[in-house]
Amino acid sequence: MYTQTEASFRGLLPLLKPHIRKLILGGVSMSIYVICWPLLAWLAGELIPSIGDGDFLKVSRVIILALFVFLVQKIAQFIQDTILAGPALFISQELRSDVFRKLQRVELTRLEKLSSGDIAYRLTEDADRVGEVIYKTIQDTTPCLLQLVAVFAYMLYLDWRLSIATLLLAPIVTLLVSNFGAKVMHAAEISQRQVSDLAGLLGEAIQSLSLVRAFAAEEWMQKRFNKEINLHRKARFRTLRLLAFQHPVVGFIEASGILGILAIGAARIQSGGLDSQGFSSFIAALLMLIDPISHLTTNFNEFKQGQASLRRLRELEKEPCEQIDIPNATVIKKGTGQILIKDLSFSYVAEKEVLKEIDIKIMPGQVVALVGPSGAGKSTLFSLLLRFIKPQKGNIYFDGHDLYKIRVQDLRKQIALVPQRVTVLSGTILEAIKFGRNATKKEVEKAALIANAHDFISELPDGYETKLEERGTNVSGGQLQRIAIARAVLGNPSVLLLDEATSSLDAEAESAVQLALSQAMQNRTVLVIAHRLSTVQEADQIIVLERGSVAQQGNHDELISKGGRYKELCSRQLIRHQ
Ligand code: ADP
Repeated sequence: MYTQTEASFRGLLPLLKPHIRKLILGGVSMSIYVICWPLLAWLAGELIPSIGDGDFLKVSRVIILALFVFLVQKIAQFIQDTILAGPALFISQELRSDVFRKLQRVELTRLEKLSSGDIAYRLTEDADRVGEVIYKTIQDTTPCLLQLVAVFAYMLYLDWRLSIATLLLAPIVTLLVSNFGAKVMHAAEISQRQVSDLAGLLGEAIQSLSLVRAFAAEEWMQKRFNKEINLHRKARFRTLRLLAFQHPVVGFIEASGILGILAIGAARIQSGGLDSQGFSSFIAALLMLIDPISHLTTNFNEFKQGQASLRRLRELEKEPCEQIDIPNATVIKKGTGQILIKDLSFSYVAEKEVLKEIDIKIMPGQVVALVGPSGAGKSTLFSLLLRFIKPQKGNIYFDGHDLYKIRVQDLRKQIALVPQRVTVLSGTILEAIKFGRNATKKEVEKAALIANAHDFISELPDGYETKLEERGTNVSGGQLQRIAIARAVLGNPSVLLLDEATSSLDAEAESAVQLALSQAMQNRTVLVIAHRLSTVQEADQIIVLERGSVAQQGNHDELISKGGRYKELCSRQLIRHQ
C-alpha cells in the first residue's frame, strides 16, 4: 500500500531548492500580475457609471489607464510563465531520471516480472503527466489561488455583507468539485492501468510478431488486443462521462449564484449600503473570480490524475534494489580469476531450491563447462557470479575475497559475460563494443582483433562508425556474436562467462565465432554453459548440473570412463555434436 504522502507532490519540493532565485523572480512577476486584478476591478467601477453618464473624457482616461494596467499585467504574466517553466520542467526531468536510475538498480529477478511496455509507459506518459501537473501548479494554479485571495479581499473592502453572501456559494462548489475529483481520480487510475496493460500486451505482441505468424495465431492475438482496447475504451469513457457531467453542474451552480448576488446587490443599493460605482467594481471583481475557479477545477482534476501517475512512478521506486556495496568494500584491480564456490544454496522463491549445496573450485585459467538439462540452474549460477542475486546459504570467493564484500563495480570489470542472445543498443559498432566504458580506439581494435571481428568491421563502408540497427539486424548473427565477444574482452577481464548460442550458424560463421572464442578464452578463467561437444571435450573441468545439484564433476575422459549422467547426456545428444 502506498500512503498519500508517497504519492504527494510535496515530496518533490526539495527539488526546487536550486532554483530559488528563479522562483523569487517568478514570484515577484506573479505578484504584479495578481495585484492588477483588483486594480482592474476598481477601474471597471470607475468606467461603467461614466459610460452610463456619457462622460467621454473620464471614459477615455479610465480606458487608457486600464490599457496600461492590462499591458503591465500581461508582461508580468509572460515573465512569470517563462521564468517558472524552467524549474517546473527541471523537476519532472529529475523525477524521470531518478526513477530510471532506480530502475537500473532494481533486482533483476523483479525486473523480469515487470512488463517492459508498462515500465516504458510509466517513464513516458506518467512522467509527462506529472510534469504537466507540476508546470500547471506553479504557473497556473498558484496565480489563480492568489487572484482569488486578492480579488476577494477587494470585494470584502467594498462590501463585506455582499461578500459573505458570495462566499456562501463557495462551499457548495468546493463540495461538488472534491466529490467529483475523487471519482475522476478513481476512473483515471483504472483508465491508466488499462493503457499500461495495453502497452504491456503491445510490447509482448511486437516481440512475438513472427512467432504469432508462424503459429497462424493472428486472429487469437487480434482478439486479445481487441479485448484490451475495449476495456481501455470503456474505462476512458467512464472518465470522460464524469468530466462531461462535472462541467455543466458546476457551471449551473455558478450562474445561479451570480444571479442571486445581483438580486442582493440591488437590495444593498436600495438601502444605501453601496453606491453604483462600488457595485460595478464588485460585479467586475466577481466576474474575475469565475475564471480562476474554473481553472482551479480543471487543474484539480488534472492534479488528481497526476497524483495517480506519480503513485505509479513511485511504485517503481519501491521495487527492491540490488544489494549495494558494504561500507569499505574490498577494492580489486586485476584478478587472477580463481573462483571458489562453497556449500552454496539458492532459491528464487521460498522452499524451492534452484541450487543445492554446490561446491566448485576453479583455478585461474581453467575452462569449466557447465552442462545439464534446461532448468538445472546453469544461468542461475552465472547470475550469482555476477552478483545479480545473493545465495541464501554458502558463499563464493573470487581470488580469495568474499564475492559480496568486493566493490560490485570492480567485480563486474573482472567478470565479463557473453550472453546466448546478443543484444546491442542502437549506435555505432564502436559504441557497442565500448558499452559506456572509457577506451581508446586502439583498445577497441585490439578487443575486436581478439574477437576475430576487426577484419569484417574494417571492411564495412563506415568501419567502426557503422551504425547498428535495432537488435543488430544489419550485421549477421555470427558477426553480432563476435561484436559481443569483443565487448566482453575489452576490459581484459580475468573471467569470461560464456553462454553458448544454441541456434546453429552456417559452418563458415560458426568457425569464425569459434576462432573468436578460442582467442578470447586465452589467459582467462572461462565458465561456459556448453551445448557443443567440442567445447565440453576440451574443458579442464566438466560440471554436470542436475536439478540444482552437481551430479558429476571431472574431465571428458574421466566422466566417460566412469559412466553415468554425463555419458548419458552425450549419447542422448543433449550436448550438441558438431
Ligand atoms: P538453466 O540455465 O540450467 O536452464 P536456470 O538457472 O535458468 O536453468 O533456472 C533454474 C531454475 O530456476 C528453473 O526451474 C527456473 O524455472 C528457475 N528460475 C530461473 N529464473 C527465475 C526467476 N527469475 N524467478 C524464479 N525462478 C526462476
